[in-house]
Amino acid sequence: MAKNFLKVICKDCGSEATVFSRATTVISCGVCGATLSIPSGGKANLVGCTVSEALE
Ligand SMILES: [Zn+2]
Repeated sequence: MAKNFLKVICKDCGSEATVFSRATTVISCGVCGATLSIPSGGKANLVGCTVSEALE
């Protein structure tokens, strides 16, 4: 079963965000604006955050 959503923690400010694992757009932190994820080959490439939890 593929996990569709990832709960991530912004490396810059520590706030939580939810990222779609196949996001096709750049995702930015809603608090500090840091780039959290960039699209890469059909899946999200997490660049500015760490995964806290994989959500169903
Ligand atoms: Zn942030």
